[in-house]
Amino acid sequence: MVDLLSLVPDPARAALAQWLEARGEPAYRARQILPRLWQRPVGSWDEATELPATLRRALAQTLPLRRLPLSTRQVSRDGTEKYLWDLGDGEAVESVLIPEGKRRTLCISSQVGCALGCVFCATGRMGFRRNLSVAEIVCQVREVMLLDAALKPTNVVFMGMGEPLLNWDAVDGALTILNHAEGLGIGARHVTVSTVGILPNLAKLAQRPEQFRLALSLHAPTSELRHELMPIERKYTLPAVIAALARFRRRVTLEYVLIGGRNDALEQADQLAQLARPLGALVNLLPLHPGGAPDLSPSPRAQMLAFERRLRRQGVEAVLRRSRGLDISAACGQLRVELEARRKVRTEEHARIE
Ligand code: SAH
Ligand code: SF4
Repeated sequence: MVDLLSLVPDPARAALAQWLEARGEPAYRARQILPRLWQRPVGSWDEATELPATLRRALAQTLPLRRLPLSTRQVSRDGTEKYLWDLGDGEAVESVLIPEGKRRTLCISSQVGCALGCVFCATGRMGFRRNLSVAEIVCQVREVMLLDAALKPTNVVFMGMGEPLLNWDAVDGALTILNHAEGLGIGARHVTVSTVGILPNLAKLAQRPEQFRLALSLHAPTSELRHELMPIERKYTLPAVIAALARFRRRVTLEYVLIGGRNDALEQADQLAQLARPLGALVNLLPLHPGGAPDLSPSPRAQMLAFERRLRRQGVEAVLRRSRGLDISAACGQLRVELEARRKVRTEEHARIE
């Protein structure tokens, strides 16, 4: 069975045209049906009432729309919403929607779990379960729109569960649908791929003509320390990653989670500045979310501010993420863990949807 939601717009149009022709339906129906995939999504073909009932039934039978049932929705006071989606095979992934003024940024997952085992990350602790398909990635956005069309994300970041560049084929297709005018139509500069730097696939991302944004999870200014925090350093080393960024030809963001006593010393800020300045990179400093790492502690606030100042004094554009939304965004790979913890503490704030 063809899954229209897994196809990028051109092949989806072709598959639909073939389907219509085989059924003796007029070709113009495609122009009514296609916008219902992404532009004005429907939860099921029944809802596309502009189509004749017989056509809706046939679509439902042979081209059903994949859904990701919502297993948990959590709304916090500042408007941040977290969702846990049921993948139908016993697995679940999460997304986080962060409103900030006119922007609504959705943080999405690309894999169930992650094989890379960064020591501070809850998703890493789960280990790798499986890759998401194209539809499972983009439908995280679609499902949010189906909950409420007014929630349509203006920005998407691949900072949920998983390493997007270890699921390149699906992420490649998902990027096309996110950006394409007949897909979700989100500008490439409003879509950010976050990665530890899987170099062969970073090169493939760089080859795409659209200006998708790149966030590189650095977290340490030396190979030695990065090796302790991120096992991937054995395969793709910090100097190799920095060299690849220098060739990227677009401004990149370096992600740096501040861990108390591990990577937050001022001399480490100096080392980081040496790496960031020649790249003209923006440095995003993220407070450690303790949920992912019971044995690590967040950097004290005064230290984080000093670290940020130290970078800035050396001409590096650095931002310490402090608003709750962004804080959650950085750590949204660990919603599952956090969800359990918070459910115990502040049950009254949660709306649990069965
Ligand atoms: N695998 C990709 C994308 C998902 S992780 C990557 O690592 O870039 C998205 C971001 O969340 C990364 O920058 C990651 O380092 C950060 N993160 C993971 N665990 C965190 C924690 N406990 N506290 C704060 N940020 C965390
Ligand atoms: Fe995987 Fe990213 Fe978590 Fe590292 S930080 S374990 S790469 S999801």
